[in-house]
Amino acid sequence: MNLKEYPAEPFRIKSVETVKMISREERERVIKEAGYNTFLINSEDVYIDLLTDSGTNAMSDKQWAAMMLGDEAYAGSTNFKHLEEAVNKHFGFKHIVPTHQGRGAENILSQIAIRPGQFVPGNMYFTTTRYHQERNGGTFVDIIRDEAHNATLNIPFKGDIDLKKLQQVIDEKGAENIAYVCLAVTVNLAGGQPVSMKNMRAVREITRKNGIKVFYDATRCVENAYFIKEQEEGYADKTIQEIVLEMFSYADGCTMSGKKDCIVNIGGFLCMNDDTLFEKAKELVVVYEGMPSYGGMAGRDMEAMAVGLGESMQFEYIEHRVKQVRYLGDQLMVAGIPIVEPVGGHAVFIDARRFCPHLIQDEFPAQSLAASLYVESGVRSMERGIISAGRDKETGENNHPKLETVRLTIPRRVYTYRHMDVVADAVIRLYEHRERIPGLQFVYEPKQLRFFTARFDKIKSSL
Ligand SMILES: *Cc1c(COP(=O)(O)O)cnc(C)c1O
Repeated sequence: MNLKEYPAEPFRIKSVETVKMISREERERVIKEAGYNTFLINSEDVYIDLLTDSGTNAMSDKQWAAMMLGDEAYAGSTNFKHLEEAVNKHFGFKHIVPTHQGRGAENILSQIAIRPGQFVPGNMYFTTTRYHQERNGGTFVDIIRDEAHNATLNIPFKGDIDLKKLQQVIDEKGAENIAYVCLAVTVNLAGGQPVSMKNMRAVREITRKNGIKVFYDATRCVENAYFIKEQEEGYADKTIQEIVLEMFSYADGCTMSGKKDCIVNIGGFLCMNDDTLFEKAKELVVVYEGMPSYGGMAGRDMEAMAVGLGESMQFEYIEHRVKQVRYLGDQLMVAGIPIVEPVGGHAVFIDARRFCPHLIQDEFPAQSLAASLYVESGVRSMERGIISAGRDKETGENNHPKLETVRLTIPRRVYTYRHMDVVADAVIRLYEHRERIPGLQFVYEPKQLRFFTARFDKIKSSL
């Protein structure tokens, strides 16, 4: 294994958690009972859990030590001060509002920054983000570059906003009818694809001219910064911290899921520079989250998040993180497995359309592939395709996203390269008898964010 391409873990292991694999018969029973939805499988029945990188991170010894410094006062916690200092140092925004996780921040931002009837252009949607925008009367408009919808095109910075599309939305709807531009770094549903600094700068210029605010979905901003350092001209010698700071200098604020790039298990926050918006955000945070000095988190959680944010900026950490994900993608590509290219920052996305050409999108190929992979190997993944995309709020029809994928999401600092080999092996084995993967149909379909709790059954004719 080439150590430059795939560097060894920049940590040693102090505490271990035993994992076990149940038998194939048991896995078949488990997936049936879970309604073929990997979200409904119990963790104890999973061997390698690649459902999500959200809150599944391994904390460091320093973070665990920080947990003991929790100041659990109801108001004015010292830990909040530390979190504020860390966010200010690394992101550079004037104000921070803590929330229990990213969607708590999205809820508040959508309420204070969207008037009903306004549009929210963004580089591809994210499930909870769009939900809150629409709940508050906004309409999401996808302005990501066309290439992002093409799974086989291997080009850098596929997460970029299409500047022509942005200008067109402004011209057609009028700047006053645009709530703000929501720019995600990186773009989760496009495959964890990063946005270039050049693009962020250009978006800032266009929005400034038109008096429009820009809020980042900062969830994986450190992974995004690594890609800029690695691939964008002029950034090779800059530190991750310098790049992150420059990225946010082109925004008016951000929502953050601490469960991703802050390397903790729970937490989030909302940032902004505008004083009036900050006042409004504080009024809402007490309703939905808690006092503006804890926002739904325990003091110890805020302390761990402050420390984690600092650790995430270390080059060795983020280099290993991104390259470990790439290692899994490389194993699969060598074996001819269709995946979304290039491999993004947090996950490898299997292209379920090409994996299961015998299924049409309305037979839910990605959902079914994720279920079959679990039965094959005890590896848990998740669907990112037609089920996640939900129904059109006007017509009630299923949205049909171009990308129909299964996401193998790598938790931070949890698994080794050898675990990645096991996963690659399982996917390759499944690919060899892929025609046996059945079509699925809904047995229970929740109205909102249906992928979390929906239940399915095999379509009889496809057995
Ligand atoms: C996870 C995630 C969110 C929501 O954050 P939570 O902490 O899960 O509420 C928002 N945007 C993106 C891109 C995410 O991946």
